[in-house]
Amino acid sequence: MEPLLNFIDGTFVPAEGGETLNTVNPATGEVITTLPRSKASDVNAATRAALNAAPAWSATTMDERIRWLDTIAQALEDDAETVARLESMDTGKPIGLARNVDAARSVANFRFFASHGRQHTEPTFADHGAVNHVHRSPVGCVGLITPWNLPLYLLTWKVAPALLMGNTIVAKPSELTPMTANHLASVMQRIGFPKGVFNLVHGLGPEVGQAIVEHPEIRGISFTGGTSTGRIVAASAAPMFKKMSLELGGKNATVVLEDAPLDDIMDGLVRASFTNSGQVCLCGSRILVHASLYETFKHRFIRAVEHLIVGDPSLESTTMGSVISKAHQEKVESYIRLAREEGGRILTGGVANEAPVEHVSPEGAFLRPTVIEGLSHTSRTATEEIFGPVVTLHVFHDDDEAVMMANATEYGLAGSVWCNDGERGHALAQRLDTGIVWVNTWLNRDLRTPFGGVKQSGVGREGGAWSLNFFSEVTNICVQDP
Ligand code: NAD
Repeated sequence: MEPLLNFIDGTFVPAEGGETLNTVNPATGEVITTLPRSKASDVNAATRAALNAAPAWSATTMDERIRWLDTIAQALEDDAETVARLESMDTGKPIGLARNVDAARSVANFRFFASHGRQHTEPTFADHGAVNHVHRSPVGCVGLITPWNLPLYLLTWKVAPALLMGNTIVAKPSELTPMTANHLASVMQRIGFPKGVFNLVHGLGPEVGQAIVEHPEIRGISFTGGTSTGRIVAASAAPMFKKMSLELGGKNATVVLEDAPLDDIMDGLVRASFTNSGQVCLCGSRILVHASLYETFKHRFIRAVEHLIVGDPSLESTTMGSVISKAHQEKVESYIRLAREEGGRILTGGVANEAPVEHVSPEGAFLRPTVIEGLSHTSRTATEEIFGPVVTLHVFHDDDEAVMMANATEYGLAGSVWCNDGERGHALAQRLDTGIVWVNTWLNRDLRTPFGGVKQSGVGREGGAWSLNFFSEVTNICVQDP
């Protein structure tokens, strides 16, 4: 495959220093291709292009920008199978998941913000003989930094509203998964998208991401990634008073109440635990179960988990692929070992040597879905983000205890409550310290709704009007006739 390049001012270029990195297929260990190992000088070039393009782009009407979003959506949809294949190869996720989630949602993000823009109106307030007009202008050049778990899905979730509101962009995808961001750049070039409005700089976080965060003329940073990286980003950007949106890690609780209809919800619980090998920030990695149905739940859950088909991501039949890298596999395995030291019992799965995945490359980063019981809800395994196919089971005796356990981590991104009574679930959900709670469903996303976390899971919200707010500056203009 051709080496990937940066996309600056509408042109594909290597890093100024000529250095490269490898991108690896984690299911086989094979190098797919190389990407530029860019530095601050490349970020400077991309930012110059974005600043030069800003006056013309911000002067376009919202209708024109909406038409561009629709054109990008169509071009991505035409390429959906290519996007799915690239994403599957770069991440090790099953091709079916890449097609139905990553490729589909990337198109949907552009279509959604196009349609949201069409309905967008600004309020006016009349009082004291004057009329107040809320006026929005772009933030300017914004930096978009994204992780490896849902590469194009999360990048387009930021690109679409940023473009809609008239901003120009310097984007940096994860160095582990650069392929589909590169494809988006090639789509931009193919459709004749205005040069310099969307720029892409590949490379390592501390070299490229940090240069974006520190660049004085990049006025907004939208970052999705780990909490420890988010802390570094915030420490750099806050003294410069940049607009900042931080979507960070999670350790989400799945709460199963005593009246939960297990037969009906088991598929949902398995999805919530192991979608994308548990590498979705919204996955429930701690399952809290009412004591009265714990044993029944446990046996049915393990049976359902053991039905997952772990294997070659290119096969349509595979339901769970590899994790993102050998290094990440080792990190996840270190938590499985820690769980044992903390008194946990492995009910299914385990480290790769004990629970091998058959018919896959020995160089692949594969783990079986792992379920652990017997740990304290305050143990490290049950409170630190593992971000892999590992869930822990915990018993509670009443709603108060369930709420106390669910809230006993530093994170507060998402959670789910499963029960036979939506109103009761709704009431309990309001007691969870998280940004998102699903009741009897999971990852059921209406893109108009606020998305984001509390505590160490982030600052700010994305989605619908929240994204438009982030990607615009608001001026109130109060007009009184003379
Ligand atoms: P990460 O924090 O290691 O990297 C995220 C991005 O930041 C990458 O592009 C990386 O190169 C870049 N980066 C690294 N150091 C940087 C620095 N000093 N300055 C600027 N950028 C830097 O995260 P990851 O391992 O790629 O992704 C997994 C994490 O992302 C998990 O913690 C997961 O929960 C989180 N996540 C959160 C959400 C959400 O919406 N809240 C969504 C997906 C993933």
